[in-house]
Amino acid sequence: GKVDIETEMLVLGAGPGGYSAAFRSADLGMKTVMVERYATLGGVCLNVGCIPSKALLHVAAVMEEASHFADVGVAFAAPKVDLDRLRAHKEKVISKLTTGLAGMAKARKVELVRGYGNFLDANHLEVEMTGGAGQDRTGEKKVVKFQKCIIAAGSSVVKLPFIPEDPRIVDSTGALELRQIPKRMLVIGGGIIGLEMATVYSTLGARIDVVEMADGLMAGPDRDLVKVWEKQNLHRFDKIMLKTRTVGVTVRPDGILVKFEGEQAPADEQKYDMVLVAVGRSPNGKKISAEKAGVAVTDRGFINVDKQQRTNVPHIFAIGDIVGQPMLAHKGVHEAHVAAEVAAGEKRYFDASVIPGVAYTEPEVAWVGVTEAEAKAAGRKIGVGKFPWAASGRAIANGCDYGFTKLIFDEETHRIIGGGIVGPNAGDMIGEIALGIEMGADPVDIAKTIHPHPTLGESIGMAAEVFEGTCTDLP
Ligand code: FAD
Repeated sequence: GKVDIETEMLVLGAGPGGYSAAFRSADLGMKTVMVERYATLGGVCLNVGCIPSKALLHVAAVMEEASHFADVGVAFAAPKVDLDRLRAHKEKVISKLTTGLAGMAKARKVELVRGYGNFLDANHLEVEMTGGAGQDRTGEKKVVKFQKCIIAAGSSVVKLPFIPEDPRIVDSTGALELRQIPKRMLVIGGGIIGLEMATVYSTLGARIDVVEMADGLMAGPDRDLVKVWEKQNLHRFDKIMLKTRTVGVTVRPDGILVKFEGEQAPADEQKYDMVLVAVGRSPNGKKISAEKAGVAVTDRGFINVDKQQRTNVPHIFAIGDIVGQPMLAHKGVHEAHVAAEVAAGEKRYFDASVIPGVAYTEPEVAWVGVTEAEAKAAGRKIGVGKFPWAASGRAIANGCDYGFTKLIFDEETHRIIGGGIVGPNAGDMIGEIALGIEMGADPVDIAKTIHPHPTLGESIGMAAEVFEGTCTDLP
């Protein structure tokens, strides 16, 4: 067959995984082609994920803080929200980053092919070209011949089959478009993405109901962290419906009628002006004709890889959301570097002990490593050092003395194996605990490290001191 482009390395997808893999491949001297269907680089994270959500969450955090300032003697007028300008601000943040990436690709001579890729065999990808600003297919097809490939095709939102199409019913991408601020909004799915969006919309004026099938919101971190978040957030919600399912959605001109079933389901249908479906993301493994390349895809659409990010086809690697949980940008970036380095002949493997998770809510909840719940379930003997921010001068000064920091250590090895923080900037601080775990630190290492005073980060040193006392047999 015809070949339009020949390359040593082909990267499929230009999200955080894909662009990191392409840049590293090019830096290591490989001729690199990156195929992406959208006009901009950055994938979900930069265009409709991490970055736009954080741009809006920052605005929400400032508004929220300002609204409490009357208590300290500084009163602001009620906020006036200009949605057009807020949207434009968010777009500007995105375009700064995506054009930056395009520049970095150019500087490295990474060739960008804009179109939708499907494998023809283990060395050829057919790209149906897309044009303009969107994903319109132009009808033109190009064939890329490659020696090695890194699949970084990411994930897509999960849709609920019984939910009708309506502009007032959105997924996270639609919610980030900020078309309207509803009076009453339903968030289906009490995970991080749903709760981040609930934070934004409620600060902008919406009343929120959230429905979740599990018995708690924000699966992942220990419940003591989530409890603090909950207490600070009850004011946003009219109803938090746990162990409850959404079973029917009817679209009417005057609103969206939703029926629930389950332990905390209201008897009557509820009416909303907007519904956000945030029930998870599924990998794109079944959408790239992987079978033609011989790459095995699981029933759920994941591509299994070994510690070197290799698929079952040795010259084809996969990284990011498409290879499994946790579906987080920072995980994909690290996998990308491993894949590119291994492809370039280096002896590397992905050996992260821990991958931090953060809910960028108000306040933030961050955790890393083994949780207390996991340790208990595994019958592991642990010690916990908890430092309540009520004893932190900076937290009191900043009005966030409800937060806390905890460290979890293994009773046998005395090493830190996990930790969690709830409070403003928790996400910015959790990296220190991740570092401690990766370096095999024991509590003394952290307790004896001088942290600057007065900071919220100091709480990590204090949490270590809490159980330093319990480890008197340490050298
Ligand atoms: P993606 O970012 O999904 O990129 C895949 C790319 O491949 C896409 O651009 C897609 O268009 C392209 N593609 C797919 N198939 C083809 C094909 N056949 N041909 C051509 N191109 C193709 N993670 C965090 O770590 N922190 C956060 O704060 C955070 N917030 C989030 C908020 C929201 C609302 C959402 C939805 C996600 C968030 N995430 C966050 C998750 C994060 O966005 C993903 O983990 C990350 O984008 C995954 O990167 P990736 O490279 O694997 O795939």
